[in-house]
Amino acid sequence: MKDRMKLEFDSKSSNESFARVTVASFVVRLDPTLEEMSDIKTAVSEAVTNCVVHGYENGEGIITIECYIEENEITVIVEDKGVGIADVEKAMEPLYTTKPNEERAGMGFSFMEIFMDELLVESCPGQGTKVTMKKKIEKK
Ligand code: ATP
Ligand code: MG
Repeated sequence: MKDRMKLEFDSKSSNESFARVTVASFVVRLDPTLEEMSDIKTAVSEAVTNCVVHGYENGEGIITIECYIEENEITVIVEDKGVGIADVEKAMEPLYTTKPNEERAGMGFSFMEIFMDELLVESCPGQGTKVTMKKKIEKK
């Protein structure tokens, strides 16, 4: 079984729940537990929030989400064409944030890492950021 979907939407915090719910409803076909579902929703939410607040700095922009299902694994790719990240390794450290004054905890990437099985962050300053996450859904 191989399955794909692609979503494109404006960078707005009001689209975070839309993205989260859409990815969740795509993954339903793998019959996830409520916990697996909630893990994926949290990871998508963190990735999309990062595009909105960091990638496009709350300005205009387009966010794309691509999802693949292969066997019992879901791949979610969240991408923006915003400011990008100069030092990805540093950005991924727990508690590291470039916006400490805006009640950011610096935990977004850590949550993505904890709640998904694999996390890959690719970024180029001035070009944008691509976050690829994978999770296997246990067969019942
Ligand atoms: P929190 O997610 O806890 O609210 P945060 O967003 O700062 O805080 P992370 O999500 O872990 O923490 O991201 C760490 C840092 O990586 C951010 O502060 C920001 O500098 C950078 N970053 C993350 N995503 C992007 C992105 N899409 N575009 C540009 N910079 C990003
Ligand atoms: Mg974040």
